Amino acid sequence: MPLDFLKRKGGDATPAAGAPAASSSTLPEEITAQEFQLKLYYAGKSSEGVRMKAGPRALAELPSMLIGLAQSEVEVVEPLPIEFSQATPNIARPSEAMQWLNANHAHGPITRHALVVLESIDAIDLAFDTFVCALLDGEVDTSGYPEYNAVVGGVASHWDEATGDMIVRAVVGWGGKGVRGDTDRIGARILGGLLTNVLANQFAMGLTQIERPVPAAGRGGLVCAHCGFASGHERAFYCPKCGMRLLRG
Ligand SMILES: [Zn+2]
Repeated sequence: MPLDFLKRKGGDATPAAGAPAASSSTLPEEITAQEFQLKLYYAGKSSEGVRMKAGPRALAELPSMLIGLAQSEVEVVEPLPIEFSQATPNIARPSEAMQWLNANHAHGPITRHALVVLESIDAIDLAFDTFVCALLDGEVDTSGYPEYNAVVGGVASHWDEATGDMIVRAVVGWGGKGVRGDTDRIGARILGGLLTNVLANQFAMGLTQIERPVPAAGRGGLVCAHCGFASGHERAFYCPKCGMRLLRG
């Protein structure tokens, strides 16, 4: 019984059932490719820091610094304890992504969007920052998530490791599947408004150079005797959450 492939070799143009046509195995001179692309654009701005008179009282002042600018409910995001030190909004890294979701799933869509944008561009770091957030300009979609040109953010604060003062900076961000030319200008204007509010606060002592603390490489281990917060950063002197002195063992 003759085999099908032998018959085709003899010039028979009809391919056997289930076999590819002979012509498909020849590489054409020009390949026709179907193109796929996604351009994600995240951007943000952060102001100089404002030194605040120390004390946990100052923490309670943070949401008021968004007055007149917030166009949604103001949410406070506290620093993440050591067990979330690997949390990253990157879905391709499941362990980091799970930590991130466990830490942030309870926040609203505006805050989650702001965290994705501002953490992706390193404008905030929840190992030591307290982040106070709202929608500041633009629209949200039907699910409540900000559009790509909506400006989100507010203020971020951390404790100065040298003095224990609270340092507050204004921080805004935007982005997604698109870019609009005027968003940068709107973001800069809002950043100025936020910084004005921070400087107008009763505890503000003036602008200061920011030296951001260095997060630990997963070691940490300092537990706050005042609030029980397990700090994720190596040389923390003040509790990132409550601002009280951490006791070193
Ligand atoms: Zn504490």
